[in-house]
Amino acid sequence: MSLLGAFGVVLLSAMPPAPPKADHPPCDDLSQPAAWKPMWGTAPAEALALEGRRALRLPCNLKGTKHERASWDRELKLDLTACQGLQFDLFCADASPVSHFSLYLHSGDGWYATGFAPEVAGQWCHVKIDKTDTRMEGTPAGWGVVDTIRVSAWRGANRDTEFYIANLGLLGADASIAIIRGESAAKTRPGEAGSVATFTKAVADTLDRLGLAYAVISDLDVTPERLKGKKIVVLPHNPGLPDPVAAAIGDFLRGGGKLVSFYAPPWQLRDLVGVAGGDHVPQKYRGHFAEIRAVGERLMGMPKAAKQLSWNILRVQPIEGKSRVVANWFNDKGEPTGDAAIIVSEHAIHMTHVLLSDDLANKDRLVLSLLGHFEPKLWEQVANATLSRIGRIGRFDRIEYLDETAKALKARAAGFLAQGKFPEAIASAAEAHQAAISAYCASQKPLKGEHRAFWCHSAFGPAGMTWDESIKLLADNGFTAILPNMLWGGLAYYESGVLPVAPEVKEKGDQIAKCVAACRKHGVQCHVWKVNYNMGWNAPKDFLARMKAEGRTQVMFGGKAEPTWLCPSHPDNQKLEIDAMVEVATRYDVDGIHFDYIRYPGPEGCFCPGCRERFEKVLGAKVANWPADTRKDDAVRAKWLDFRREQITKVVSATAEQVRKAKPKVKISAAVFPNWAVDRDGVGQDWKLWCERGWLDFVCPMDYTPHIASFENLVKQQREWAGKVPVYPGIGLGVWPPGDNIVKLIDFIAVTRKLGTTGFTIFEYTAPVARDIVPLCGKGITRP
Ligand SMILES: [Zn+2]
Repeated sequence: MSLLGAFGVVLLSAMPPAPPKADHPPCDDLSQPAAWKPMWGTAPAEALALEGRRALRLPCNLKGTKHERASWDRELKLDLTACQGLQFDLFCADASPVSHFSLYLHSGDGWYATGFAPEVAGQWCHVKIDKTDTRMEGTPAGWGVVDTIRVSAWRGANRDTEFYIANLGLLGADASIAIIRGESAAKTRPGEAGSVATFTKAVADTLDRLGLAYAVISDLDVTPERLKGKKIVVLPHNPGLPDPVAAAIGDFLRGGGKLVSFYAPPWQLRDLVGVAGGDHVPQKYRGHFAEIRAVGERLMGMPKAAKQLSWNILRVQPIEGKSRVVANWFNDKGEPTGDAAIIVSEHAIHMTHVLLSDDLANKDRLVLSLLGHFEPKLWEQVANATLSRIGRIGRFDRIEYLDETAKALKARAAGFLAQGKFPEAIASAAEAHQAAISAYCASQKPLKGEHRAFWCHSAFGPAGMTWDESIKLLADNGFTAILPNMLWGGLAYYESGVLPVAPEVKEKGDQIAKCVAACRKHGVQCHVWKVNYNMGWNAPKDFLARMKAEGRTQVMFGGKAEPTWLCPSHPDNQKLEIDAMVEVATRYDVDGIHFDYIRYPGPEGCFCPGCRERFEKVLGAKVANWPADTRKDDAVRAKWLDFRREQITKVVSATAEQVRKAKPKVKISAAVFPNWAVDRDGVGQDWKLWCERGWLDFVCPMDYTPHIASFENLVKQQREWAGKVPVYPGIGLGVWPPGDNIVKLIDFIAVTRKLGTTGFTIFEYTAPVARDIVPLCGKGITRP
């Protein structure tokens, strides 16, 4: 860049203040901007020194350009095997042109990918890239052979911006606890890769809440060397633990190290762990495995019981003289099942299912009692951390929210800490913090006239509650609407004349009728949610077979059949979607109908013979190279993308026309992907058009991000796209650590109010949410 250009940049954009001083060594001192190679028309990075501290300026040239993201690749050999992840400081004065930021780490034939965001605009923010938060693309070869960092800012608007990073380094490199992540499962048991990620994350989240540092080591990377200096190894869910890993853990245990394992114990080490047996035992009924209850001589600080609704266990028994049972499984009626939940030996503690994130307070204490049994000084560490966090709520250093109850509990906790009674101190501190959160929730103010909705994925409502109880709870706590998922691509949970009817309807009744009756009684709106096209896991086999035989299911770009997705261009499928939506609107006293999955699965769909035929008809010519030309030939590509959009739009417009005629008061809405500008091509979802044409009465973009700044940017942009149609943004409770739920939710609702959306939609209404979240909302933020 020329001097003038560089000078121009300095004049035009506000320079950030100096970044904070790092307390970790850098892995790139950011002095070589040319090493950050720009991709696809992205502008080059620049190095700066701000008061002597290094920072990298990353300009996002999005205005008038075509690339979907500004992106830079830094080739850098990193060994992240024995740490928690990466950390850096981030500054962005205006992230609004960016839909979201991503960080990718290249390894082998794949990537580890995750998102990040500046939490506060115009300030340096600390970013932690946690390995357990990453998803895998392709087949990465482990964390020890990362060779490239890719940072991307995805296009959200046609405007330029820039961001800065500083202090790029490793996170958690010297922790005494190592969590082993079962990444070998991605190769050997692809179906397990998702649950490996989920249950590893559940353990990592628990340690985060306890304030304990840890490293996460992939099972592809475990060596005796890398376990040196660690005190405890945790196996959160490691199906098919590779033999060399088991051998390294065996040496670690014989050398005085300890193991905490979940679900499948390492079979190669069953003698050291002290377990026998190993039958897979599914639940006989829901609630069969409902509680982990301490028995016999309890471990220090172990709760009497922790609730956990497990759907199966791996049954093992202790070995006499080597190990003993310290907790058993009980059912939801409080009766013993006779199965061991936790077994302790000299070297190891084993739990017979994965750790689930229900009953968090007791679960945290349970995990601490397992770790503290082997490493007692963790107790003091956690006690100090828990006390210091009482009443510290939310993202900023807000004032402590301590009412009289919380203050008294805090004093009590401090007393226990002074006497060295750590479990008691932690329990009191946790109670004090809960009291503080309750006081914080009660200090929130409701806003009149808001549309406050919940999606509910189960057609039967939150588990263990009737529709009447579920809807009453919403009404009592100031919620105004529910969107229950009552029909899919190939199944209905009501007496449908169009779709196959779920067998449960015979036994449990017509679920729309039940939900609507409860809604009418308690004054809550009912907008029935349909999953379009996707026949998911629940369509009857004969229906799936018939759809496939009739050429009505999708075929992906590479030729792979996708037998559970209906082809959007098939006229019979369009009719089926429209008829089902109209049936619900006309047959029941609903307030609305709600589209979901009203799109293609991705750029890969649909390339079935029918799509080809129908597209060539529209094109008025044969496609010479099918399907390659739909990507390579610009003219064909543009027509192809239009064609896809039109197929989806037809269903929306025809449904709207028919429903408006038959039942003009019924509202029509849709759950949509957040970034219309990109998703209109990617999944053929043209929801801006649907708003412009008046086919939608409100729209719920699924803004499932844990980052409040990203959420704010998305909603701002979406309001422009939606024009006069209200946007009730989707807030995802599952995307941030569950312990933060209510506090984060309040922050996100505050953003919708700041931007004047007049409503929001929360994903989703479940039994734990009904118990833990809804009543806390009702205390303040949604107070009726
Ligand atoms: Zn097709």
